[in-house]
Amino acid sequence: MKLRTADIKGIQEIIEQYQVFAITTHTNPDGDAVGSTIALASILQQLDKDVQVIMPNDCPIFLKWIRGYENILLFDKHNKQAKEFLNKADVIFCLDYNNPSRLETMGDIIIKNNKPLILIDHHPEPICDATHMISETKACSTAELVYRTLTHLGYEHLITQDIASALYTGIITDTGGLIHNSGNPELYEIVAKLMRYDIDKDFIHDQIFNVYSYERMKLMGLVLKDNFEFFPEYNAAFMYISIENQKAHNFQLGDSEGLVNLPLAVKDITLCALFTEYPNKMIKISFRSKRDFPANQFSADFFNGGGHLNAAGGRIESSLPEAISVFKKGLETYKTLLNNS
Ligand code: 5GP
Ligand code: MN
Repeated sequence: MKLRTADIKGIQEIIEQYQVFAITTHTNPDGDAVGSTIALASILQQLDKDVQVIMPNDCPIFLKWIRGYENILLFDKHNKQAKEFLNKADVIFCLDYNNPSRLETMGDIIIKNNKPLILIDHHPEPICDATHMISETKACSTAELVYRTLTHLGYEHLITQDIASALYTGIITDTGGLIHNSGNPELYEIVAKLMRYDIDKDFIHDQIFNVYSYERMKLMGLVLKDNFEFFPEYNAAFMYISIENQKAHNFQLGDSEGLVNLPLAVKDITLCALFTEYPNKMIKISFRSKRDFPANQFSADFFNGGGHLNAAGGRIESSLPEAISVFKKGLETYKTLLNNS
C-alpha cells in the first residue's frame, strides 16, 4: 500500500505551519475511531501543538481504559467547549469517516467552518472537501492508516507504548481480532512493530472482548433464541433488539457490539442484519456480509446508510416491524446476488 507523496508532503506542511488541531471522528465511536484519534493527538502534542480530540458522543465502556480517553471532548455532553475548540482550531482532522454527515450536527459545523480538513479514513467513496486525503479502502482500519501516515511523516520515534496500544486497539476492533479484512501481509509487519513497544496484548484483548456483564450475555441468548430469523431462500437472516428487551436486560451502550457477527457462523448465511430500536421510532441497523456481497450498497439502497463491503450500517425512521419489512423487500431485490455471492 502506497500513500500519495503529495498528500504526505501537504500534511507535513500543514502540521508545521499551524498550531491548533481538532481531531474528529464519527458518531457512536468504535475502537478504531477512539484508538486512531487518541494516537494522532498524542503525536501532535509531542510536537507542542494545541490538540483536542472531539467525538459527537461517547464510546462504549470497553474503550474507556485507553490512555487519553479522559481528555476527549464529547460534542453532545461538552457542547460549548467542543464548539469553542472547533471554532478556534486552525485545522480539523477527520478520522474514520468518509462524510461529515456521519457526525450529524457536529458535521455541519465542520463543513461550515471552512478550515483546512485532513481526512484519514478507510471507507469507500469519500464525500468530503478535504485539503488532503489519506483514503485507502485496502487498509483494515484508520489506525493502520494513521500508523502509516505517522511513519511517512517521520514521527515513528514519537510512538510510545500508549500510542501503540491505541493503534493496536483500532486494528483489532475493526478486524474482529485480525479475522476480517486482514489478509495483507504488511498489516502483520505493522502489528509486529506495534508489539515492539511492549504493549500488553492480553490486557487489551481482555478489556475489549471479555467484558460482558451477565445481563449482556443473557440478552445475547434471548436475541439468538427468540429474535433471530433465517431465510434460506435468500441466504440471509436478521436479529432485533427491542426497547422492551433493552429495559429487561439493563442495556448499556456497546452491549450489542459483536452480536451481528454471530449469524455469519451459520454456513448458509451471506447477509445478516441487526435491528436496534431507539426511542421516537428510530431504528438503527448493522449489516454484516460474507465474500463479495455488498452490505454497504444494500444499506445505502434501503436504510440511508453505507460503510464497508462486509460491514455496514444505516437507519430508518419507522417501527421495528416496518423496518423488518423494508429489509425483506431488500432481500427480494437482491435475491440473485444473495444466491450467487
Ligand atoms: P457497526 O455495525 O459496527 O455499527 O458499523 C459497521 C460499519 O458500518 C461502520 O464501520 C461504518 O462504516 C458503517 N456505518 C454504521 N452506521 C452507519 C450509518 O448510519 N451510515 C453510514 N454511511 N455508515 C454507517
Ligand atoms: Mn474504522
